[in-house]
Amino acid sequence: MRDLLPYLKLYKKHWFGLSLGMILAFLTLAASIGLLTISGWFLSAAAVAGLSAAKKDFNFMLPSAFVRGFAIGRTAGRWGERVVSHNATFKLLTDLRIFFFQKLTPLIPGKVSNLRDADLLNRVVADIDAMDHVYLRLISPVTIGVVGIAAISALICYFDERLGLILGAILLVILLAWPVIFYKLGKGNGAELTQNKADFRITTLDWLQGFSELTIFGAESRYHQAMDKAQERLLKNQLVNAHISGLASALLMLANGWTLILMLWLAADGVGPHGPDPLIAVVVFATMACVELLMPIAGAFQFLGQTLTSARRLNEIILSEPEVQFPEAQTQHNGQFSIEFDEVSFSYNNDERKAVNQVSLNIPAGNRVAIVGQTGSGKSTLMQLLPRYWDVQQGEIRIAGTPLKQWNESELRAAISVVSQRVDILNGSLRDNLILAKPTATDEELATMLRQVGLDRLLEQTGLDAWLGDGGRQLSGGEKRRIGIARALLHDGPILLLDEPTEGLDKQTEKQIMTLFQQHFTNKTVVFITHRLVELDTMDSICLVEQGQVVEHGSHDELLAQQGRYYQLNQTL
Ligand code: ATP
Ligand code: MG
Repeated sequence: MRDLLPYLKLYKKHWFGLSLGMILAFLTLAASIGLLTISGWFLSAAAVAGLSAAKKDFNFMLPSAFVRGFAIGRTAGRWGERVVSHNATFKLLTDLRIFFFQKLTPLIPGKVSNLRDADLLNRVVADIDAMDHVYLRLISPVTIGVVGIAAISALICYFDERLGLILGAILLVILLAWPVIFYKLGKGNGAELTQNKADFRITTLDWLQGFSELTIFGAESRYHQAMDKAQERLLKNQLVNAHISGLASALLMLANGWTLILMLWLAADGVGPHGPDPLIAVVVFATMACVELLMPIAGAFQFLGQTLTSARRLNEIILSEPEVQFPEAQTQHNGQFSIEFDEVSFSYNNDERKAVNQVSLNIPAGNRVAIVGQTGSGKSTLMQLLPRYWDVQQGEIRIAGTPLKQWNESELRAAISVVSQRVDILNGSLRDNLILAKPTATDEELATMLRQVGLDRLLEQTGLDAWLGDGGRQLSGGEKRRIGIARALLHDGPILLLDEPTEGLDKQTEKQIMTLFQQHFTNKTVVFITHRLVELDTMDSICLVEQGQVVEHGSHDELLAQQGRYYQLNQTL
């Protein structure tokens, strides 16, 4: 149950709506029970009056008015309760999702890199949805149940103490026993159901996303079968769930029936000081109506297992400490955007093999450094350490004389513009995809930038409103890369990090982009990763990385004169 605590705290903010929902639910229930009880009494009392001489004195009007009032009250109450409690739970879910996102984003990429996208999606959607069960299926019905039992026992006690206490005791036993029994019965299956639901989503998404690849390699049917199996397991869990729900209701009806017989037998000789009279009907019909009070509790606790599993899955995310933490305070720096790596080492997942090994590198403000090296040598990793994608395990990185760990997040983001090796296109329009780099940019500015990177063609037809990403216009690899370049140039930070920005571009476009870069490079500190050793003579220095280490560093001419590894690379290309 402790797993639910972080979520119950969020309930506090919506206490008014949630409590009002419960009060309305209680009033609705009271109207329901009142309706059945008073109708039962009214019918028997009217029959008795009809047979006796007191026919003329019998007040038909008042009970009829109550019956009408309860009927209308029940309908209006149910409507009001649905509106209020749905409103409150939807607001609660909104808060929960925002809360979850706030906890999730600082964990990217470090802590969640081992989670599948589909699994994360399932946590955001299904597991968070399960959190409203805590209110709708547990807190609300149990509170209403306890108050309802007290009220109904008090009512019967008013007529006959013995009958009221017996009924109260029986109802209390049911209220306590059913949750325990059905929580135990549903626990294992509920936990499995939550897991299998996630598995089903993951396998379905795998199959859907990789469909063309799977078909080409003849593996589609195998993945399809895996998806079918996951679905079968889920359906089996749902079937067990339905059986348990059915059993809970059936046993409750049975218990209610026996209680009814018992109460009828106990009340048969008369209620309280009265002899056998229509008051017997009050007791019997009130007992009968109690099923409405207990029904929501009967099946609810089998879902507790699911809810707890969902809470645990969410807690895995929200209780994780981010690997990278930024200070709140403003950054004190010297305004000269130099970059210094001081004996920096880093390995992924604390692997023995270091992706960056004892790197010391000094890039003065306004300098341009090219980083070259074979694939897998650690170039991208070295660059990703600058925006604190990951934190170094040894050594220190300083930007503008200030250690990276003392940089406030928003100031660090403003200082660094990046073209990453893999450019992500978001599900949105062309404008959305560019403006994220500079929210204040006008359409004119965006269009000019697109022309500069040679993407004028994207401006034809719907222009900046063209839909990219999922279900939108498919972009070629080179087009995506140039969107990435346009973003970085729009962002216009004093430090520019480029990870193979011209890869996949033809010679002519590459030349055009390089000329554009030369214009933008002025007064910027530039780190330029490349495989293609073109125009490197325009760089201030070149840094050759091998197996995570800087093996050569100097200007193009110096390195050629050394006739070392850079010279050899130049010869082979
Ligand atoms: P390329 O020229 O192919 O882009 P690179 O020099 O940029 O290569 P990196 O991407 O820095 O190389 O990778 C360096 C090493 O770290 C590689 O062995 C790679 O497999 C490993 N690596 C990269 N990213 C991760 C990650 N997220 N988790 C674990 N290992 C990683
Ligand atoms: Mg790389």
